[in-house]
Amino acid sequence: VRGVDIMRDPILNKGMAFTLEERQLLGIHGLLPPALLTQDRQAYQVMQNFYRWDNDLDRFIFLMGLQDRDEKLFYRTVIENIELMMPIIYTPTVGLACQKYGMIFRKPRGLYITIHDLGHVYDIMCNWPIDDVKAIVVTDGERILGLGDLGAYGMGIPIGKLSLYTACAGIQPHSCLPITIDVGTNNEQIRNDPLYIGLREPRVTGALYDQLIDEFMEAVVKRYGKNCLIQFEDFGNHNAFRFLEKYREKFCTFNDDIQGTAAVAVAGVITSLMVTGKPMKDNVFVFQGAGEASIGIAKLLCKAIMATGVSHQDALDQVWLVDSRGLIVKDRPKGGVTGEKLLFAKKHAPVDKLEDIVTAIKPTAIIGAAAVPGAFNEKILTDMGKINDRPIIFALSNPTSKAECTAEEAYRATDGRAVFASGSPFRSVQYKGKTFYPGQGNNAYIFPGLALAIIAADIRYVTEDIFLAAAESLARMVTKGNLDEGRVYPPLSDIRCVSLKLAEDIIAFAYKNNLAFRYPQPSNIKAFLDEMIYDTDYVSYIPPVYTWPETAGKTS
Ligand code: NAP
Ligand code: MN
Repeated sequence: VRGVDIMRDPILNKGMAFTLEERQLLGIHGLLPPALLTQDRQAYQVMQNFYRWDNDLDRFIFLMGLQDRDEKLFYRTVIENIELMMPIIYTPTVGLACQKYGMIFRKPRGLYITIHDLGHVYDIMCNWPIDDVKAIVVTDGERILGLGDLGAYGMGIPIGKLSLYTACAGIQPHSCLPITIDVGTNNEQIRNDPLYIGLREPRVTGALYDQLIDEFMEAVVKRYGKNCLIQFEDFGNHNAFRFLEKYREKFCTFNDDIQGTAAVAVAGVITSLMVTGKPMKDNVFVFQGAGEASIGIAKLLCKAIMATGVSHQDALDQVWLVDSRGLIVKDRPKGGVTGEKLLFAKKHAPVDKLEDIVTAIKPTAIIGAAAVPGAFNEKILTDMGKINDRPIIFALSNPTSKAECTAEEAYRATDGRAVFASGSPFRSVQYKGKTFYPGQGNNAYIFPGLALAIIAADIRYVTEDIFLAAAESLARMVTKGNLDEGRVYPPLSDIRCVSLKLAEDIIAFAYKNNLAFRYPQPSNIKAFLDEMIYDTDYVSYIPPVYTWPETAGKTS
């Protein structure tokens, strides 16, 4: 590429950092103001702008604009300010951005495949200009965060998740492809939104819908090979579990809402036990919610409990679930105990209210993932503090507006004894002269590093054991110092190191268990990963030139 197009391509663009030589050789001299501003200078300019906005949605729009303009500068500033920027490009702000996606839409990114494209999905995939995609994040927009059906507005999620693939784990941005499958939306408000970007039709379900997803999976393999990773994201509950079972052994795939959440939450539980001092087998877990997140966590948690020498049945007995109809017990008069929930149904009298469940079951840990804001009320929190010396309280529902309680509420109601983590970030809390740093059970601790491991080592089947290995790896990275500050996760500012170490551990685990297919096996995994990591430095467009001896090449 030469000429003005190089400035218009976000992958090639260097903003004001083109040198005088480059400007002349590329034929863009005079198209830029005379000054040469290094990437450092431009990063400073980005931050000045970032702070200038007075709300996070504007910051989101600003950052998306930057991503569309100068990819290296975008990633450099995100990586350098990850703790500040992750809540913008990811939960919670991305949730708000999805709700207003039509209004803030500037430039398309990723692929849109609709129900009307049945039979043509592969052709659409071929329209994507990059031939070596290694990872796809796909949504159908039916359950965006805890915000429900946002239809095609959900595209913000695959885009945001893949930005974190690069920002957290250094995966090459061009290897990543965000996809929205649009089968309509049942959200009437969005369908009537004059700026809506998707199909204004109710969701298509049933055989046609399944056919489209099948065709999509096959098309990915046909276009990008069978080791192209497909991360399912924010599908409705009934489809998420179904597709995971249907595809997990046939494709390179995982569901982040079920399995990624499970790994991050189980890591948090493992580290919490270092604080409470209670061995795994003596804990009782109550989940508020029995959906993708809760069931995923509960199942992996059972694996973690069994790893400490407990039988499967005894592990199941330690885990209680609550759904919209109350405690999940056998033969519940209100019914609704089907599918994945059955495994956890207890022989116990039905109890409806979470308050009464807590006093009846006396859990050591309550984990909320039902998107019911304020579900952990003061009574529940206080009771948890009475039952336990150090109660474990995880309010995982996203975004912040859906959290079961705030960090502050948890610390106050328990005299500062709560071991707390949330799904969306909470600020540090001052309480009785102590500063608490609430942990954020952010899926971003797991999925970028996991994806890097899958891509780098050619892992084709992402087993449950891999998720447990990931949880254990993350838990090992939490220091005594972190725990003393109230954190059950490493600080988010360390997420790059965390992701790379996680990838390293998963790769080692995968080779040991014959799950990695990249040969030869790298002798030094860390060096092998460092080699493939995305570099945010601008490249030089001046090829290296050299001279020959004066006599060489002469004709006479
Ligand atoms: P989901 O599959 O739709 O499940 C929601 C569950 O909540 C269902 O089991 C539902 O019960 C239950 N529920 C609804 N109202 C309830 C009530 N009043 N009392 C008790 N339970 C109730 O959704 P999901 O994927 O599990 O996600 C749920 C939340 O977790 C979302 O806010 C999401 O953002 C959050 N999440 C957080 C993280 C994280 O922090 N890292 C990761 C993933 C998800 P029924 O089964 O009876 O309908
Ligand atoms: Mn999700």
